[in-house]
Parts: sequence; structure tokens; C-alpha cells
Amino acid sequence: MSLSTPTASAGAAAEPVAQRSVTVLGLGPMGRALADAFLSAGVRTTVWNRTPGRDRSLKERGAVGARTAEEAVAASDLTVVCVVNYEAATAILSRPAVADALTGRTVVNLTAGTPDEARATAVWAADHGVSYLDGAIMTPTTTIGTPDGVFLHSGPADLYHAHRPVLDALGGTHTHLGPDIGRAAGHDVALLDIFWTAMTGYAHALAVARAEGITARELAPFAKGIGAILPPLFDRIAADVDDGTYSGESSTLTSAASSMAHIAHASEAHGIDSGVIRAAEGLARRAVERGHGADGFSRVAELLGRR
Ligand code: NDP
Repeated sequence: MSLSTPTASAGAAAEPVAQRSVTVLGLGPMGRALADAFLSAGVRTTVWNRTPGRDRSLKERGAVGARTAEEAVAASDLTVVCVVNYEAATAILSRPAVADALTGRTVVNLTAGTPDEARATAVWAADHGVSYLDGAIMTPTTTIGTPDGVFLHSGPADLYHAHRPVLDALGGTHTHLGPDIGRAAGHDVALLDIFWTAMTGYAHALAVARAEGITARELAPFAKGIGAILPPLFDRIAADVDDGTYSGESSTLTSAASSMAHIAHASEAHGIDSGVIRAAEGLARRAVERGHGADGFSRVAELLGRR
């Protein structure tokens, strides 16, 4: 599986401005940020949104506001889709007039979804003569058009490279993850899994802390310290999991399960829902019961992956 090294955007000089154009379908916060970045880079930008009126500020900045999705996609060789989910993306793209107008053109779908949804959309695109790249945005709207944006792409390499000059207008780093169209969404769900479980842990921590008379502001500096422990752990656990070592040298699963039980007890003593930490404790205990108590927490990843 080929993996392009993440490359920072080359900037607007990659191709003469006059040759670059794009259509953006979906003008939620992210779609608007994408369209805004294209406009800032001098790309001719056509926009459309299901609910009218969301294009006002973009039109003031020079965007062309299309009346219909078919009119929008007909305006550019490249259409970027960014709506709430694949169901919404499919509702737009599969309308016969839109599908007809897209024939012979390219869609880059930056909507968040599952690998299977990406693969199904690629099948639909192939059936309709539409070139298709799937993608994922891993950073918030405020990073779009700045060096901090992170974009993942998957699908045919030649298609990706052909459209890089326009995608570069979004700034940040772009990584082509290979021809398997589901790979960007695969990364997206795995990375958002980390994000949302961590955010849920933080929300639970704030509730328990509050019940103990600790304000969120008081906890925040220490919470950041806990967060800072994670990046080096990600590297260590990655090696552990890929190499199958599951080392418990610095901390064991037995100890982790015990620590999680304390958190659950403290939570339950205040009548606070302990479901998330109890689920984590349950996984650790299952690994211990199967004889892995002396292993590190990384063993849980292996256990979860067993069929
Ligand atoms: P939303 O996820 O709220 O999506 C809003 C957009 O989806 C609007 O354009 C909305 O149109 C459209 N939409 C919803 N349902 C339909 C439908 N049935 N048919 C047509 N259009 C529909 O806003 P965002 O812009 O924030 O997110 C867009 C995508 O970007 C999502 O997949 C999100 O996960 C992803 N993303 C967002 C980030 C962020 O920071 N916001 C960060 C990284 C990724 P209407 O106005 O008509 O309702």
C-alpha cells in the first residue's frame, strides 16, 4: 500500500490562477471554510447549499452562487462535497440531473463517513462515469487555509495528483493514503474514535471533579498535563501492537483495571453515570481473566481485534 509523505501545500503559484476552479457543495461551517480558502487563494469558486442563503458572505467575496446542484457541478471540473454525512452526499449526487452533469468530472468527497460508505460511493461514481476521490479533514474549521489543516485522501494516485493544485488552496498538509478508496475514512473513524472517547472521558472527569468541589478551570492545567502524556504513549503502543509485544514493563493491565475501578466507585458515590469508565474497566478485566494481567494496556487492542 503506497503512502505519500504528507506534503505541505505548494501555494497558489502551482498553476495559473485563471485555470483553477472548483465547486463546493455544502455550506455548513466546514463547507464555508473550504470555499473561503479557495476564494482567498484566487480559485474560481462556485457554491451551492440545500438551504438557500448560506452563500451570502461567500458571494460577497466573489463566489458564484449556483441556483441548483446540477448548475454548480457543471461550473467546474472538480467538485468538493462537504455535508453532514454520506446519506446527505448521496441525496445530492445521485439526483439524475446532478449525476448527468458530473459525468466526466471529478468529485472529492470530504464528508466524514465510514470506509464502506466511501467504497459504495466510489462504485456509484464508477457506474456514472464520475472520477472519485475520498477524503477526510482531521482539523477544525479555523485551520482551513492555514498551515495547520490536515487533509487525508484516498483513491487513484493520478487523479489525486491532477487535482492537487486546486486542493493546495486549502493550505495545511495533504496525505495521499493509497488507491484503496476506503483508507481516508478508515483513518478518519480511527482518529475520531480517539477524539470522542477522550472527550467523553474529559466530560465525565469534569462531572466527577465538580461533585468533589473542583471547578473545571482548576482541573484544566492538570488535564492538559494528562493529555501531554498521550502522544509519546501513542508511539510506544504503536510499536507494541505492531510488534505483538504488549509490554507491561512500565504499567500492567491488573494495575490499570484497579485504577479504573477507583474512578468508577468515586463516580457512582456521587450518582454520576460511570458507564464509560466501567466499559473500559470491563475490557481490562477481560484481558486479565484471559491471563494477560502482566501485559500492558496495549493488549486490549489485540483482544478487541480478536474475532
Ligand atoms: P454539518 O456536519 O452540520 O453539515 C452541514 C451541511 O450538511 C449543510 O450544508 C447542510 O445543508 C448539509 N446537509 C445536511 N443534510 C443534508 C441533506 N439531506 N441533503 C443535502 N445537504 C444536507 O457541518 P460542517 O460543515 O461542520 O461539516 C461538514 C462535514 O465536515 C461533516 O462530515 C463533518 O464531520 C466534517 N468535518 C467538520 C469539521 C468541523 O470542525 N466543523 C471538522 C472536520 C470534519 P443545510 O444547510 O441545507 O442543512
